[in-house]
Amino acid sequence: TENEQRGPPGSGKGTQSPLIKDEYCLCHLATGDMLRAAVAAKTPLGVKAKEAMEKLDEMLEKKGTKVDKVLNFAIDDAILEERITGRWIHPSSGRSYHTKFAPPKVPGVDDVTGELLIQRKDDTADVLKSRLEAFHRQTEPVIDYYSKKGIVANLHAEKPPKEVTAEVQKALS
Ligand code: ADP
Ligand code: ADP
Repeated sequence: TENEQRGPPGSGKGTQSPLIKDEYCLCHLATGDMLRAAVAAKTPLGVKAKEAMEKLDEMLEKKGTKVDKVLNFAIDDAILEERITGRWIHPSSGRSYHTKFAPPKVPGVDDVTGELLIQRKDDTADVLKSRLEAFHRQTEPVIDYYSKKGIVANLHAEKPPKEVTAEVQKALS
């Protein structure tokens, strides 16, 4: 069985994924992150990944039979700019922090390893606009596709992290 997390950039997918992985033994594959790194490095994998990303809808449809639950991190676009521009990431673990909503103990430093945090180059208000356009064009139809199958759990992703966690647990129980 497979579960999918879908939601716009900044909706909290990465923040909730350790819970899903540890409590439900499901792997959150940070595919977006891995592919972006491969594309940026222009490796042979990156070239292939770029082609694959253009075919994502098709791939998901083929995978459709195996997916048994989709968590939709539903959230208003207006909330995402503040989330995205305040996001800091620990690259090797994928842990994300937020300057206002989830600050690290020491600014710019990962709580667990003490290593430096980075900001993603595309985490700007300007690039967010085009990422959201892509989300509405490419990903929302996928959510509709699964909604018709009756397997989508719509989460209130604008709520505080702990409340979203409770909704994830309910959806997967
Ligand atoms: P995604 O993986 O969906 O792109 P993230 O989990 O990285 O999103 O969250 C984006 C930013 O918003 C991060 O800086 C994160 O710390 C913060 N964040 C995540 N969930 C919440 C929440 N429920 N309320 C406030 N801020 C949140
Ligand atoms: P974000 O972390 O910003 O929310 P996503 O994880 O949704 O980003 O994905 C970022 C990009 O990677 C998108 O263009 C998406 O189409 C592509 N992508 C995500 N998962 C896959 C996958 N399994 N195969 C191919 N492309 C993918």
